[in-house]
Amino acid sequence: MTEDCIFCRIVEGEIPARVVYEDEETLAFLDANPLAPGHTLVIPKHHYGTLGETPTEPGEMVFSAVHYLTPLIEDAVDADATTVAINNGEAAGQEVPHLHVHIVPRFDGDGGGPIHAITGDSPDLSEDELDEIADRITPN
Ligand code: 5GP
Ligand code: ZN
Repeated sequence: MTEDCIFCRIVEGEIPARVVYEDEETLAFLDANPLAPGHTLVIPKHHYGTLGETPTEPGEMVFSAVHYLTPLIEDAVDADATTVAINNGEAAGQEVPHLHVHIVPRFDGDGGGPIHAITGDSPDLSEDELDEIADRITPN
């Protein structure tokens, strides 16, 4: 537990939350400032900052919980779809420095955008640059 982390304090029961799911490694609760009814956060119980800082097993457990919960959340609020996303690091807009997956219910005509709306101008990358990036990402 990290003392000054809000989500660690929720895990410890020191701050109340509307918990909707819990297992050994993960906790899911309603976002306190929901972007839509049913907006849920899924977190590892242990404090990890970003995906890159999260070991394999808790990372897999978080995604397993997301997979399990997403259709339940859609049903609960009669959503047409969901946006599932992580602000993975400060530059991406992460404000609470404890890994969390947002599950945001979406509704036809809700006025929200797709994930493509999150950045400014798209980069103009050549075929060579795309090849090089793909090579760098691909594990050896
Ligand atoms: P971030 O910008 O870090 O990806 O999102 C943090 C989210 O945590 C926000 O959507 C915010 O509403 C939510 N949040 C912040 N503090 C609390 C809290 O004390 N309780 C709950 N349930 N959600 C919180
Ligand atoms: Zn924490």
